[in-house]
Amino acid sequence: MAICAGCGIDTELHELGVPICTSCISKRESSNPLLADLSLEITHTRDLYFKAMRALAPFQAPGERRPNGSRHGSEAMRLEDRAKIAGEKYWEALRCYVETLRRETGKSRSA
Ligand SMILES: [Zn+2]
Repeated sequence: MAICAGCGIDTELHELGVPICTSCISKRESSNPLLADLSLEITHTRDLYFKAMRALAPFQAPGERRPNGSRHGSEAMRLEDRAKIAGEKYWEALRCYVETLRRETGKSRSA
């Protein structure tokens, strides 16, 4: 059992490594448009990332050997690039959210 970073009650819920309770999450997002935006951004980038990974999955099957330079080879490389970029955007959105969250919870604690 961890202590919610926002209000200090016991919580089982962790958000990106930060203990948080559900009421703090909804309170935070309704009172803070920036966090709500960032939260949407995470959902959006995660969707794109998962889609890119799903598209790439068939090319990453074990035992899959395709000659370099074939149509499939370049398609796989294209999908790999797309998944990598989508993953970076997703990670960046998560990082932004956590940083803002830490700033905001620090603010409300000292207030
Ligand atoms: Zn809380």
